[in-house]
Amino acid sequence: MRYHIDTIPVLDALKLEGECLLCALERKTELGEAERYLGASVMEPDIRVQVNSKGFCRRHHAMLYGMSNRLGHALMLESHMIETRERTEKIYKKLDGAAETLKNIGLAGRLGGKAKGPDAAVQESIEALQELAGSCLMCETIEENMQRYLHTFLHLYQNDTDFRTRFSAGKGLCLPHMARLLEAARAELGPKELGGLISVLTKAQRENMDRIQEEISWFIKKFDYRYEKESWGNSKDAVERTVNKLRGWCVGKEPAE
Ligand SMILES: [Zn+2]
Ligand SMILES: [Zn+2]
Repeated sequence: MRYHIDTIPVLDALKLEGECLLCALERKTELGEAERYLGASVMEPDIRVQVNSKGFCRRHHAMLYGMSNRLGHALMLESHMIETRERTEKIYKKLDGAAETLKNIGLAGRLGGKAKGPDAAVQESIEALQELAGSCLMCETIEENMQRYLHTFLHLYQNDTDFRTRFSAGKGLCLPHMARLLEAARAELGPKELGGLISVLTKAQRENMDRIQEEISWFIKKFDYRYEKESWGNSKDAVERTVNKLRGWCVGKEPAE
């Protein structure tokens, strides 16, 4: 098989035998990115330019904050704040202009359509603010990586029999990643290959969701005194794994360890 730079991480993620190998890959990428932005590389000019312009979303700021490197976070925020303020100033000027006009429009002016111009300016400002507050360099980088990993997954699935067998017999994927994989497969595979993959996926997903259903039910039973002395089996972390299966990894043991 042709060597591919992303082959090893995908194979490693499969070997973890977790609830979703794509969750493992995504989380590993996310942790690596967080380290990068708080580390020395944030001083590298090209990364600095990107951080300054895009910033991070709420979730990723919380993650960076949780990594207890307040100085690293502050250094990154200082220049991002400068650039953000340059951009907000343009928006504020536009809003101020609209405000002046709006204040002087009476009923006659409103009926005559004089509010249309400033109203459009307010709408444009809303969109500009949403764009400014909605970008995240980490989300973007993770997304780029996931696109590559999905591509590699499909490449391995088509060319590596061992990979295909192990995946088919494995724990399947979380629901969001099942959708993502199908989306990528639909774009990349021929009809026969796509049909084959779909059958493998639905079978694995049914089996593994049956398993998780039993585990969460057993978890609940264990709170009943009649089952107190019985073994937990695999159900101790059934809550975490059920959540992660349904919505993608977000709680419990790290998927990429
Ligand atoms: Zn997943
Ligand atoms: Zn983000």
